[in-house]
Amino acid sequence: MKGLSTRAVHSGQEPDPSFGDVIPPLHLSSTFAQSSPGEHKGFDYSRAGNPTRQRYETCLASLENGKHAFAFSSGLAAIDAVIRTLSPGDQVVCSDDVYGGTFRLFDRILKNQNIEFRFADLTDHSKLEQTIGARTKFIWLETPSNPLLKVVDIKYLCEMAKSRSIRVAVDNTFATPVFQRPLELGADIVMHSVTKYINGHSDVIGGAIITNDEELAEQIGFLQFAAGAVQSPFDCYMAHRGIKTLVVRMQQHQASAMKIAQHLEQHPKVHKVLYPGLPSHPQHTLASQQMDGYSGMLTFFVKGNLDDAKRVLKKTRLFTLAESLGGVESLIEHPAIMTHASLPAEVRKELGIEDTLIRLSVGIEDSDDLIEDLDQALG
Ligand SMILES: *Cc1c(COP(=O)(O)O)cnc(C)c1O
Repeated sequence: MKGLSTRAVHSGQEPDPSFGDVIPPLHLSSTFAQSSPGEHKGFDYSRAGNPTRQRYETCLASLENGKHAFAFSSGLAAIDAVIRTLSPGDQVVCSDDVYGGTFRLFDRILKNQNIEFRFADLTDHSKLEQTIGARTKFIWLETPSNPLLKVVDIKYLCEMAKSRSIRVAVDNTFATPVFQRPLELGADIVMHSVTKYINGHSDVIGGAIITNDEELAEQIGFLQFAAGAVQSPFDCYMAHRGIKTLVVRMQQHQASAMKIAQHLEQHPKVHKVLYPGLPSHPQHTLASQQMDGYSGMLTFFVKGNLDDAKRVLKKTRLFTLAESLGGVESLIEHPAIMTHASLPAEVRKELGIEDTLIRLSVGIEDSDDLIEDLDQALG
């Protein structure tokens, strides 16, 4: 198999047979001509399948070392499709600090379909075993998690789950296949918010599911077709274009994040930094073994209170104050007020999402400029 950078550039990007376009054309058509009823060139209607989407899905599958990939209209639509493969009464055990929108989808919508969600700190293996029930069908995890960057032992979890016939789904949005390939570690499903690093340019909302499990692939493919939360051809085209630079982008994100993490850890106005690449991170050893890099997300606690945090958030110039992450431009945000506002206040407190917590998505600008910007905002 070719290397990841080669596959990122070439997978699903073979020149177009009609005119030899080196960049395959964007197929916007909703429907496709048939030569006689039921006879066509592989596509009949774009919800069921589209050439641009298919090429992009081929690339997604290749990068995660999976057989099947499905492009959804958002990360949450992708998660929704996975959970809809369950039956009423089934249970899902989920990381306690999942992305706020995932929590909202589970807690306010899917729970009402009689799926039970049990939240646990998946870094605590004994607590996890106590949380698993007789009808637990999935373990849903994010690693590194959002916003606390907890790292979960995927291999251990998959072995434990397999012995109980439980499937493991990993939200790989933060690490990307550049730094972590959960299917290789035994996971059954990889999910992405393509909106973030995969597209990488903050101009597409999208989601993806990748799996080697034939039964799941069949169910998810059917849900994608029958419920219809497909990614549009244009967005598939954009995300596939973004993927070509995924490897170089991730290397730059991580190199700068590491520098910034080290700088902030020494900063007199910073109480604590959470970054899996720092030896002070609670799961640093596990992260070094499980991942090929630590990605570009980092979280820190400023000294003081909410007002001190707000002052920093308002004062950065290169870091834009905005939700989301994973684009080429650096972003700064306040999880308690912004991305994680959908978690009840007492849950946030229990998890450690404090008022002084600030999350950075480190972009690919010059790291010296980013550090200067943070210094002036903190100072
Ligand atoms: C953004 C995000 C999602 C949701 O994806 P959307 O594309 O916004 O629907 C899920 N998980 C993580 C880790 C995210 O960052």
